[in-house]
Amino acid sequence: MNFVKRFKTRYILHRHAIKPNVWHAVIERLELLHRLSAVEKAHLRSLSTLLLHEKRFIGVGIIITDDMRVTVAAQACLPILYLGLDLLSAWTDIVIYPTAFFVNRDQVDEYGIVHPQERLLSGEAWSRGPVILSWSDIEQDIRKCHQGHNVIIHEIAHKLDMLDGSSNGMPPLHFKMPIPEWTAALSEAYRTLQQHVQHYERTCGNPYAASSPAEFFAVFSEYFFTAPDVQSRHFPLVYKQLAQYYRQVPYVCQ
Ligand SMILES: [Zn+2]
Repeated sequence: MNFVKRFKTRYILHRHAIKPNVWHAVIERLELLHRLSAVEKAHLRSLSTLLLHEKRFIGVGIIITDDMRVTVAAQACLPILYLGLDLLSAWTDIVIYPTAFFVNRDQVDEYGIVHPQERLLSGEAWSRGPVILSWSDIEQDIRKCHQGHNVIIHEIAHKLDMLDGSSNGMPPLHFKMPIPEWTAALSEAYRTLQQHVQHYERTCGNPYAASSPAEFFAVFSEYFFTAPDVQSRHFPLVYKQLAQYYRQVPYVCQ
């Protein structure tokens, strides 16, 4: 980090730090952060402060409070706790809707025929565009602490995946991560999940992960942070790859 950037970062952390009472209330409410050490929580607070300074929150039909902004920031910064905020710097806006929202997307079938489709989404991430989130889904994740479900982590995983310009389930890997190991582990798990879904068999993961490699990475990132024990038991090789990528070990095998 150069001198000017370091000075600016220090200034923001000093002058605009998230208020302690707001931060502690949010941390208390977010069960998935309870496993973090005091040092990690302090680092997460710094990252969240910087994220709030960089991003613009836009409420559509909803008034966004400080508490809501911090709630989003803390969860958005969890995946990049050991990766750095620069990975989220290519975009600015976080758009919040009060509930799930409809989008119109054209689907092209195998014969090249375009079918207009209306879909109800709880979140969306645009390449170089905003992250869009439904507040009611965020609240639901907090209230029920759904295993394997966190809309904010899902959309941030998409943003990380898109860093190399394509959304294909493989973000730019770290220098010492062999691509063949990543591909073998995730492709095998993806194929297994697809087979279970095609044969209407019970899956130990959200079947939505079988819809594309990009969704697989996003959904499995949700599991990695919210149900690491489940993922480590059922998909140990994927868990190992994600632990290397995120540089975190949310679950240690006994
Ligand atoms: Zn998705």
